Amino acid sequence: MANKIPLLDTYPEIESIWDDLTAKIQEVLKKGQFIMGPNVKEFEAEMASYLGVKHAIACNSGTDALVMGVQAMGIGPGDEVITTPFTFFATTESFGHFGAVPVFVDIDPNTFNLDVAQVEKKITSKTKLIIPVHLYGHAVDMDPLVEIAKKHGIKILEDCAQAFGCEYKGRKVTSIGDGGALSFFPSKNMGACGDGGMFVSNNDEIAAEVRRLRVHGTAKKYFNEVIGYNSRLDEIQAAILRVKLPHIDEWNEGRRKVAARYNQMLKNVHVITPYEAAYTKHVYHQYTIRIEGGKRDLVQAKLSENGIGTFVYYPVSVDKLPVYSGLKFDKLPNSDICTTQALSLPIWPKMTEDIQEVVVNSLKNALL
Ligand SMILES: *Cc1c(COP(=O)(O)O)cnc(C)c1O
Repeated sequence: MANKIPLLDTYPEIESIWDDLTAKIQEVLKKGQFIMGPNVKEFEAEMASYLGVKHAIACNSGTDALVMGVQAMGIGPGDEVITTPFTFFATTESFGHFGAVPVFVDIDPNTFNLDVAQVEKKITSKTKLIIPVHLYGHAVDMDPLVEIAKKHGIKILEDCAQAFGCEYKGRKVTSIGDGGALSFFPSKNMGACGDGGMFVSNNDEIAAEVRRLRVHGTAKKYFNEVIGYNSRLDEIQAAILRVKLPHIDEWNEGRRKVAARYNQMLKNVHVITPYEAAYTKHVYHQYTIRIEGGKRDLVQAKLSENGIGTFVYYPVSVDKLPVYSGLKFDKLPNSDICTTQALSLPIWPKMTEDIQEVVVNSLKNALL
């Protein structure tokens, strides 16, 4: 059966800015400057201002932002990178390119994020980088993490792909560590109409390095200095994102309202609703519940029969992916448990209460 209620409906947002969006796209078409034009430049300035950071560098994808960030931070063969096993593969793929190896720290099942209290005991002389992932739009507890990193001379690269607009103690995530990566993949909180990403930093040297890596490793065209990439954000995507940016706070508030309503509706239902720690402003990229007792897959199948789209982020802990079959890792029981319990319910900024009622009623029936 085709989904009647999708996991994400992007059209209501697009419809609300339709005239502005189509006008800006037409402007780009008329101007004919499709790569590194004025929209990319302006978008970078607007993003730096929104995030309160010095450098915002637009690129091809969130994955590329991570890869270039890792490279600019000097991560190389044999280096150890501490991160979460409960994430999208791009997080660890980014440093795998340079021969660095992951060291996983288990998650706190309440926040689904890296358990900061377990980080320090995993640090060795080879540890060079920590990648916290602000999963589902909930910040990692950054203050103690920054303290540990400073003490041991380790860098922090924030994976903010799911957390655009999310705050940690009143500050936007991305620049609390040494740099951050954002994704504009269409399903993210601020999605382009195609791929896109951004590297963000307050560090002049790291930013300058990412800036040249983005354009074939050169600060001066045709005088290439290092091996780099072709990883630019298209002018049309920049124009689209510039139209969206002024609405993002309102849209994230919309997600928070939908989440609060779900919390209320699910109060007496036998599921674990998402937790929001006092230090963060959650932007609910996903509204993810936990279903205990081994019933998650059955519940998901029943919801699907009723035309309700849900998703499991993530069905496999990253340490158990085939790509790492040759490596040995410590046990990560919380991550393993969450792969069997997590279920993301439909959410988007303009989701109505009526639609939520249908989802919740269907969920209640599926749990019987
Ligand atoms: C989406 C995502 C990425 C990658 O972003 P792309 O723009 O798709 O390359 C990286 N990390 C996390 C946690 C993500 O959710």
